[in-house]
Amino acid sequence: MSPVAPALALDEAAVVLPKEERLRDPFGRAITDLRLSVTDRCNYRCVYCRTGNEGSQYTELSGEDYLRMAGLFVSLGVEKIRLTGGEPLLRNDLVELVRELASLRTIMGEPLDLALTTNGHLLEPLAGPLKAAGLRRITVSMDAVEPETFTAITRVPRSFERVLAGVRAAKQAGLEPVKVNCVLLRGFNDDQIEGFAELSRREGVVVRFIEFMPLGEDQSWKPETVVPIDELIDRLHSFRPLVELPRNAASETARRFTFDDGVGEIGIIAPVSRPFCGHCSRIRITSDGKIRTCLFSQDDHDLYKKMMRGGTNEELATYIRKIVHQKEKRHHIGEPEFQKPSRSMVHIGG
Ligand code: SAM
Repeated sequence: MSPVAPALALDEAAVVLPKEERLRDPFGRAITDLRLSVTDRCNYRCVYCRTGNEGSQYTELSGEDYLRMAGLFVSLGVEKIRLTGGEPLLRNDLVELVRELASLRTIMGEPLDLALTTNGHLLEPLAGPLKAAGLRRITVSMDAVEPETFTAITRVPRSFERVLAGVRAAKQAGLEPVKVNCVLLRGFNDDQIEGFAELSRREGVVVRFIEFMPLGEDQSWKPETVVPIDELIDRLHSFRPLVELPRNAASETARRFTFDDGVGEIGIIAPVSRPFCGHCSRIRITSDGKIRTCLFSQDDHDLYKKMMRGGTNEELATYIRKIVHQKEKRHHIGEPEFQKPSRSMVHIGG
């Protein structure tokens, strides 16, 4: 494993920024949540995400570069970092990168809320080392609870058992609460809803259903493929009566439910039919070091290029502030003016 360089001593990070100087977009939303994509390689070819063509080019930067970018955002008020991709577990230096990121402190001097999203295929042996390196929480993407359907969606045979073992290893390592995210697609996995409810109850994981968004490489999104949340709630309720739980925080994207006996937890994330842009606290860095202000942005902004041209931390921080001031108010999915984003999910970082 190639170690990354030690955490950068960012002078700015040592200073507690006054509230009015922390990252805020033009609509007054505090930007505290960074999604950092550390590769756009993926070992799955999910039908709704990838074209299935092999050999596409990929881009990823050194752990040291990601660490410097993350440090800059943290020095401006980011408190939570989620590592994503592509598939982040494909990086050989991931545990080291997590260790370095975990040593960063927020401007209030607190440890970062460090999380990871993975497809789980490589997770079982890595869950313990990631936890020991300072990872706090994990989300595993899983679009079916039956192996055949799982293979049909991911186009990777015999992976289902590995992912389930990864989920169990994450729980055992204490990466709690382990969340399992399922993108529901009409005609592909909408017959798995009750199976996911059973999985949540049996495995003690939070299952979150996510609406399908127009972000695939092959532009296959159609409104008819989205499973409406009212239908999802009805199905879950017929399986066993649902009880709604309070939101954990105002910016939380999921509606939360348990069942009438308090066993299991279900989250419903509906960015298409119930957008939560008003509470958005997110900013993204793509695996090639570009800032994206929204999943659905038409542009991205080359922070890495500025870094490579010798930008000082101060210059880069000024640039980040400028870009955050261009953050979109909301997405326009389902409206006539909606334009598909300039990059697909695997290249943006989910
Ligand atoms: N490889 C990691 C994983 O599988 O979690 C991280 C990257 S993946 C792009 C992140 C998440 O985005 C996955 O849960 C995936 O299902 C979801 N995703 C991909 N395309 C999507 C789409 N069009 N709409 C909604 N979610 C999508």
